[in-house]
Amino acid sequence: MKILKIQTGKVRIKENQISKSKGYVPQMLKVLFGNKWADWVPIYAWVIDHEEGVIVVDTGETYKTSVRGYLPKWHPYYALAVDFDVKPEDEIGPQLLKMGINPDKDVKKVIMTHLHTDHAGGLHHFPNSEIIIDKNEYQNASGLKGILAGYLPHRWPKWLKPTLIDLPNNRYFTFNKSMPVTRDGKVMMVATPGHVENHISVIAEVDGLYYFMAGDTSYTEKNLLELTPDGIGTKRSIDTLKSIISFSKINPTIYLPSHDPIVPQRMANKEIISF
Ligand SMILES: [Zn+2]
Repeated sequence: MKILKIQTGKVRIKENQISKSKGYVPQMLKVLFGNKWADWVPIYAWVIDHEEGVIVVDTGETYKTSVRGYLPKWHPYYALAVDFDVKPEDEIGPQLLKMGINPDKDVKKVIMTHLHTDHAGGLHHFPNSEIIIDKNEYQNASGLKGILAGYLPHRWPKWLKPTLIDLPNNRYFTFNKSMPVTRDGKVMMVATPGHVENHISVIAEVDGLYYFMAGDTSYTEKNLLELTPDGIGTKRSIDTLKSIISFSKINPTIYLPSHDPIVPQRMANKEIISF
């Protein structure tokens, strides 16, 4: 089994979205009207090249975010608080083809950590894969409720018929809810609530190293170690960050959040979380 990363362009958000700050002003107002942009950060998706078939974790973003009318600019978040830089060749489909993987035929499963657009923007590349989404996340992201919450359900492919899952109370090390993805149990989905209530992370064990495909549990490893939740998450973020840290104390863990600029170095050098 091999773990590969694919960078599908870059995104820029407000500093107040990256980490929560103290005070009385509601956090969402700080995210929208904060005057400091953070640096551009990568948007990663992952490929697990497993003998039972290729598994993709998240699908990255689409270049259409730069096409006028694609993003709902009436929505304050898209009007004020996010910028994308994605070129057509940055999308996950063309990048997989370059790696010798045909997204139409060779990808058995696509697992979504959650459905925010920078994770779901490449779904259209996988018409023939089983697409696995948490049942409650799918509900929260669907329809008008989803659009108001910042999801783009009207941009999902019309053919989308995901396999909806509800992770069972099946303990996996420090995580209360989990489900195996592969028969050998080397690829697991675990519940990591916080950034969104029903966020999933994927853990793949390769030669004794645990690759932790973290979605947006935190934007960086630094934020994980400092137990700094992001600026839009729920109260459960900190418990999730603690579970990840406890997991990494038992198992050598390579932490792979979707937007951490240090990911390439971490993967190349097999740098585990250390204390
Ligand atoms: Zn997100």
